[in-house]
Amino acid sequence: MKCLCCKSEKMTAITKPYFSVVDNNYIIIENVPCFLCDDCGEVLYSASVLERVEAMIDRIKTIVSKVCIVDYNQAA
Ligand SMILES: [Zn+2]
Repeated sequence: MKCLCCKSEKMTAITKPYFSVVDNNYIIIENVPCFLCDDCGEVLYSASVLERVEAMIDRIKTIVSKVCIVDYNQAA
């Protein structure tokens, strides 16, 4: 995994809340795995994680009312 910003290879695996606004509803997915660049602080999500997050948001946005907080590890 290489940083897209500074090309550093010093990426640390972390988890972070993913925040999204869909149709005026706020969706927060907690504990989403991602990589933090040690050099510039950029946060990167892998393609497979983003796919899963988008699939979750797609499903959630049809049932959400205003604010929804889910856990990445539980809502799959
Ligand atoms: Zn970087």
